[in-house]
Amino acid sequence: MWFRRDLRVTDHDALTSGADADRLLCVFVLDQAVLDRAAPARLRYLRQALGDLHDALAERGNGLVVLEGDPATEVPRAAAAVGAARVRITTDHTPYATNRDDAVGDALSGTDVELVRHDGVAIVPPGTVRTGSGTVYKVFTPFHRKWRDDADGDPLAAPDGLPAIPSDHGLDAVAIDDLGVLDVNGPPVAWPDGGESAARKRLDRWLAEGVDGYDETRNDLHGHGTSRLSPDLHFGCLSPREVHSRLDLRRTAHTTFASELAWRDFYLHVMAEWPEAATEAFRPELRGMRWRDDPQGFEAWADGQTGFPVIDAAMRQLRTTGWMPNRARMIVASFLCKDLLVDWRQGEAHFMRHLVDGDVASNNGGWQWAAGTGTDAQPFFRIFNPTSQAKKFDPDGDYVRAHVSELREVPTKWIHEPWTMPEAAQAEAGVVIGEDYPAPLVDHAEARERALEWWDARP
Ligand code: FAD
Repeated sequence: MWFRRDLRVTDHDALTSGADADRLLCVFVLDQAVLDRAAPARLRYLRQALGDLHDALAERGNGLVVLEGDPATEVPRAAAAVGAARVRITTDHTPYATNRDDAVGDALSGTDVELVRHDGVAIVPPGTVRTGSGTVYKVFTPFHRKWRDDADGDPLAAPDGLPAIPSDHGLDAVAIDDLGVLDVNGPPVAWPDGGESAARKRLDRWLAEGVDGYDETRNDLHGHGTSRLSPDLHFGCLSPREVHSRLDLRRTAHTTFASELAWRDFYLHVMAEWPEAATEAFRPELRGMRWRDDPQGFEAWADGQTGFPVIDAAMRQLRTTGWMPNRARMIVASFLCKDLLVDWRQGEAHFMRHLVDGDVASNNGGWQWAAGTGTDAQPFFRIFNPTSQAKKFDPDGDYVRAHVSELREVPTKWIHEPWTMPEAAQAEAGVVIGEDYPAPLVDHAEARERALEWWDARP
């Protein structure tokens, strides 16, 4: 059993299928190509998730063998070491994962070992939700309608027991409590523990205390109005099918929450069908767009120094915690792509460098949605006004004050437009705009006009 981002024992098709084998070797391969792209917050989560998975497997009589190197070499080597008849995986759908798995499949093809692919990364397996004419949906709403009919699977219980690890494997494994390669330099990220046990507690708490209010709280910037299960789903510490199966779909808040899980499945479907979207605009006619080259603007955005408090709060939150609420992701992405006209791929890459839930399919989908290059019909004209968004979703300014220390003493009436504060009020709040905290990088109304003209003039 080769684990990747399915780091759980509950509702695990591949593991359950292998549970009654005579011999079972569970491996995880530390693949430098993946680790090099991972954010510190994700590495920390991964380290904890691997430890937790090892414990869960050990409780059942097995354990996790962690190898280091290129999976195309390490997986066939591990299979040969224990005389395996098959290698089971949970299929992943990013271009990198597809190529990697094909390479492993090729390496195994000259042997007697079969590569067996199982579902489990999505609720409804990518590629299976199709239109009447058999194509994959390009638009979310009809996808969702059809998806609802198919999203009805029951989760599998964790296996009670597993065969022992073959003691004669002789592989050069990394000790589970010595995963130094996942240690990262830099400030510690404030994210709760990773792994299935912690994720399960988060899910239980969310179902007991959070989801009923989801319709009212999901756009709040401050506070915990959403489940924060995205890292658990990204690493597969929770199966999305299990999360979905535990909702009460007679309640509207639960249905809203389920539709967010459908968005996750939708972007996985899109990525599986159109892998070129990982690097190019989803809409072919928009592939030649010339975005602005603005390294200073990008840096101000990434550093949380734009002078728009809500943008700066969100970008600083991302740096220090590895997290940002969905509403803030939409606001900052719109600002980068529309107000600054910077290529969405720069923002996408920055998010992947920092997010604890950084996920190729969802992140790409979110950025292309914000940039107007994605699966939406008429999206370019949706240009978020950062100030009105902030007033609506952070009415008391608590989100800004939590992340932008320079503005902590600014009264609520100016918190989202500190550049309008009279000098005396600035003095009283201990902040001089333009000196202690930046003046706005752009005039939003002018930036909006510029974006619309740019769009009209595109080739
Ligand atoms: P909840 O609101 O509790 O939703 C439950 C689950 O549904 C989430 O955990 C997630 O798995 C899924 N979900 C919710 N909204 C979306 C969505 N819009 N698209 C896809 N799935 C969704 N999500 C990631 O998991 N990884 C990313 O790298 C990522 N990057 C994004 C970038 C941009 C520019 C935008 C606009 C959105 C991005 N999202 C990403 C989607 C969304 O912001 C997060 O999934 C959500 O904020 C996670 O918080 P939560 O678990 O509390 O969500």
